[in-house]
Amino acid sequence: MKRILITGGAGFVGSHLSERLLNEGNEVICLDNYFTGSKKNIEHLMDHHYFELVRHDVTQPFMIEVDEIYNMACPASPVHYQYNPIKTIKTSVMGAINMLGLAKRVKAKILQASTSEVYGDPAVHPQPESYWGNVNPIGLRSCYDEGKRCAETLFMDYHLQNEVDVKIIRIFNTYGPNMNPNDGRVVSNFIVQALKGEDITMFGDGSQTRSFQYVDDLVEGTIRMMNSRNGFTGPVNIGNPVEFTMMELASKVIELTHSTSKIIHLPLPQDDPLQRKPVIDLAKKELNGWEPKIHLEEGLVKTIGYFDNLLKENQ
Ligand code: NAD
Ligand code: UDP
Repeated sequence: MKRILITGGAGFVGSHLSERLLNEGNEVICLDNYFTGSKKNIEHLMDHHYFELVRHDVTQPFMIEVDEIYNMACPASPVHYQYNPIKTIKTSVMGAINMLGLAKRVKAKILQASTSEVYGDPAVHPQPESYWGNVNPIGLRSCYDEGKRCAETLFMDYHLQNEVDVKIIRIFNTYGPNMNPNDGRVVSNFIVQALKGEDITMFGDGSQTRSFQYVDDLVEGTIRMMNSRNGFTGPVNIGNPVEFTMMELASKVIELTHSTSKIIHLPLPQDDPLQRKPVIDLAKKELNGWEPKIHLEEGLVKTIGYFDNLLKENQ
């Protein structure tokens, strides 16, 4: 049994990770300030003997004896991370410093949830880990992109200078149950709009692409990365390489929800990447053949079921 700290544990990804690590027989301490996460995501874990919940902000130091740290705390949707950009970059940078300091002190292994956003609006397609990215340092997305880039730098520097055992994953667009319905990300927006019969808000002409990964595939890749061979730090891409345009996604959601919603076009936000797709050769090689198993349609059906129940509960 390991004692594991998950920052951002009450969020979308953190809640799935908490459940899986508890089910595998570990002790899980979930730390969250509830900015975008919610107790509802983890309420089914509350009675578990080996689960603990701590309200804390990662921009402040935190001391605890643990074996492993998954650093997931950070708002992930553009709407939320742009709400208070200074707080967003502090969460990534000071959160990384505080958690790395803790890892150094208690000799814990530590994994950073980085992002495909470190590639910015990529000039190389698809994106291998060796690509350095094309990021605007002073735009609306910079608080998130540059915060995550700086966190990667800190992780590698603590590794090289202080021999902290670090692991970095670059997560590509992920979706599934426990996403915040007001989160503003495309999958949750389109599903909620389709279920309510509201207009589907397509930003731009909808030809921009993303590659969508179901959350269970991400959790599997994340845990494999934490358990990867000694000295393997990454960064490693964790994403689904099957690429879709936003128009294709909207059509699929309308079809699966049998919705009468129609698509309306709104302006494309500043610095919105035109395309994104991971190269996952490194993950396959280093993480025991890891690759996504859940196809978009299967994952969408599960996610639609989740939002359908949520909307009925809130009626
Ligand atoms: P989320 O917003 O659902 O979860 C983030 C969690 O962190 C929330 O529970 C929030 O309350 C908490 N948090 C935010 N600021 C905090 C702070 N200062 N102190 C303590 N807790 C704080 O987002 P998610 O989709 O679950 O993302 C989890 C991690 O994965 C994030 O670091 C995100 O950048 C990364 N990521 C996610 C995706 C994706 O598609 N979901 C893609 C790339 C990277
Ligand atoms: N998008 C959209 N309508 C929405 C929300 C998002 O067309 O209601 C688009 C957005 O402009 C982007 C893509 O969907 O091109 C993915 O957006 P999301 O915010 O989910 O993730 P990110 O841009 O961070 O990859």
